[in-house]
Parts: sequence; C-alpha cells; structure tokens
Amino acid sequence: MESISRKTFIQSSGLLLAGEILVKKPGAFATGAAQQTETGRKPVKKWVLKNVRLETGFVYEDGEVIATETGLFNVEIEDGKIKAVLPNDPKADATDAKGQLMLPAFRDMHIHLDKTFYGGPWKARLAKNRSVKDMIAFEQKTLPELLKTSTYRAEKIIELLQSKGTNFARSHVNIEPTSRLDSLKNLQKAIENKKDSFGTELVAFPQHGVFYSHSEQLMKEAAAMDIDFIGGLDPNAIDGSVEKQIDFIVQLALDHGKGIDIHLHEGGEPGLKTVEYLTQKVVENPALAGKTFLSHCFVLAKLEKPKLEETAEKLAHARVGVISTVPFGSTIMPIPTLYRHGVTVMTGNDSIVDHWNTFGSGSVLQKANLMAQLYGQSTELDLSRCLKLATCGIVPLDDKGKQQWPKAGDEASVVLVEASCSAEAVARISPVKALVHRGNVVYRN
Ligand SMILES: [Zn+2]
Repeated sequence: MESISRKTFIQSSGLLLAGEILVKKPGAFATGAAQQTETGRKPVKKWVLKNVRLETGFVYEDGEVIATETGLFNVEIEDGKIKAVLPNDPKADATDAKGQLMLPAFRDMHIHLDKTFYGGPWKARLAKNRSVKDMIAFEQKTLPELLKTSTYRAEKIIELLQSKGTNFARSHVNIEPTSRLDSLKNLQKAIENKKDSFGTELVAFPQHGVFYSHSEQLMKEAAAMDIDFIGGLDPNAIDGSVEKQIDFIVQLALDHGKGIDIHLHEGGEPGLKTVEYLTQKVVENPALAGKTFLSHCFVLAKLEKPKLEETAEKLAHARVGVISTVPFGSTIMPIPTLYRHGVTVMTGNDSIVDHWNTFGSGSVLQKANLMAQLYGQSTELDLSRCLKLATCGIVPLDDKGKQQWPKAGDEASVVLVEASCSAEAVARISPVKALVHRGNVVYRN
C-alpha cells in the first residue's frame, strides 16, 4: 500500500504556513516536529521554557567541591537552537519546566537497532558459552524471522531510548549474506519514520565476518549507500588475519569518505595487534583521524600498566576513540586511564534484549552511573564529570565550575530530569521528565 506522503499530509492537514511562527500557549509543551513546507523552507518555531534549572557553579569548602550551585532561568528556543538563556520570569507566557534540571540530551553510541527481541515477547539470551562463530551460525538460522518485524522493533527501541533521555544513536546494522541489505533497508524505514524526533548514524557491520562469510561485495554495496561508518569484527578470530580485514575496511572507508567503527572482542596478541595496526593505518591516513573507533576493545582491560599507558597514548595521538559498554565482572575496562590520556570514550547499550545480551535498559545515564560505581567516582565533582559518558562529552560546568552549557546557538537537544544537579542525576539515575530534540518536545513523562 502506498503510504500517504509527507507533502500530501501537510497539505491536507494545513499544519503550517511557510514562515509561520508557532508560539506555544502557557503550560503546553510544543509537540511534534518542525514541519517542512512545500517550498522546503523550515518555518521558524519559537517557544520559551521557564523555571529551568541550570548549573551555575561549584560550592567549595577547604578547596573541595561540596555542592553544585544552580539557578532558575528562561530558555528561549528557536529553529531547533537555543536562542537565549535569560533570567527566570515565572510569570512568562511560557512552558513550565517546574524547576527540573536541564542537561544535554543523551547519546547512545553503540547499539544494534536492527536486531532485537524488544517490541516482541520477552526472551532471554541463549547459553553463554557460545563462541562468536557459534552465534554467526545461530544468526544464519534466525535472522530471516527477525527481519519480518525489524522495522517495527527498531521504532520501539527508539521510543525506549527517547524515554531514557536519548535523542541520538549510532547503530550498527548487519550486512551479511543472510540479511543481505534487508536489515539496512528495514532500519532505514524506521529511521525515516522517526527522523523528526531522533537522530542516527549507521555503521555497516559485517557481523558474519568480511571474508569468513563472503560479505565483501555486500559491504561495498552498503558503503555506497547512506551509511556513516564501515564496521568490522574480530579480524583474526573471524577472518583469520588482522591485516586482511583491516586493510579491506580502511580502503572501503577511504574510498567512500566514511569513518570506521569495529567490534573488537578478541584479546591477547591478536587483539593488541588489531588495535596497533588500525591505529597505525589512521596515522598514515589523516582523513580517518577522529572518525575511527574501537568498540568494546576488551584487550585494553588485560594489558600490563606500561603497555596500557603506551597504547592509550597512541590512541589519543591518532585520535582513535573507544566505545565501551562499561562491562563488569572479570573485564574492567581502563576507562579512567583512557580519559587521562585524552582518548575519546563513548558508550551505548549495545543490545536491548537480543540473542547476544539480555540487559540493555536503554539508558546511557545508567552507564554513567555504572562507570561512577566501578571506578569509585563518588564525590560531587567526580559524579558531575561522569555525566559526559551519557552526553558524549558535554557537561554544563567545566572542571573549575565555570558554566559552559547551555549557550546561545547550541542545538536545542536537551533533557529535563528530576534532579538538583548532574552529580545527583548520575548517582541516582534520576527519572527523565522530558526530551527535546532539535527544538521539539518528543517525549514527556
Ligand atoms: Zn555491538
């Protein structure tokens, strides 16, 4: 069935005229997305939030941060951006944030939106002792069934993420001979349906190996499509050669102007060799600097201190980032060491209830909390710094307590949480009350 086109919908509903200014009534949240008019001009959409709690500084005692100072403000939003932060006017004709804390919207930087049990019946993962190759064989049997519902389920995960304050995700998407390009196409439908309320970037992920499953041609086709990163998977364990898989990925990324984000679970010599070889390739090809990431990278958790320090230094210098789901148990990632060397560290849920993992809650604030607990970050200052794991680096106050967010011109992608400050939000995984994506309220609790 031909679905009603966006243009027809806007024409028939008479939603907005070009250039119309939409100012919300007091007490009502602006909902829905900025509408594209027939001329392609985006109407100016302006509204104001009042009684917004923002962090303004740290309170010190004997040189130690003992509390976070906050105040209430009016925040003007226009055209998807923060237009101004003004003194609070409780009587203003504006949407009432009721003293809730405004933080940058959260970002999930490693998730698989394309394959999940979420949105369907509950199902725990299978026995733990399966190897990645066992899981590939399992996927070859089960993916055709999962693909039937994958668009719907991706939309359900996006809604879950929004309810946890996340407005952006980097999703890996399976590219292999079982799904071919269908997992990508199904996910692109979900992304299209959610595009006004949620942002994404995609990693073409050869989940079944590049050469092990003969996915080279499909990866080349995917690279020419609307994706952002070339993925990879345990080059030695799955494809039998670190150089062969990495060379293929690097060339594909360079040919198509994409970034790189590879899954690296394998440890030992091959794991370390993969880190070093990929890092070297990025040094040789500056176009890849700042656009190359190692997901999981568990090998770093097992390195002796001098080797770890040296490797972290190399990653920082080459601008290769690490995306960690903050595992615990026997694998404690050296995240504080990575931060100390200036390595970009990001996080994500990875799975939301699928055959790989059962635990994804959808919340990256929970990951920041987990990081705080794992590394003993329990003071006001330390907790406030941990927020950056959920926001991809942005925190309202700098290390000295100077306000650096929000500023006029910042993207109006923000979350309102029921907390008095960042430290409390991280420590308590405070409830998300509303999510604003590029100026539009897309979730409200
Ligand atoms: Zn993953």
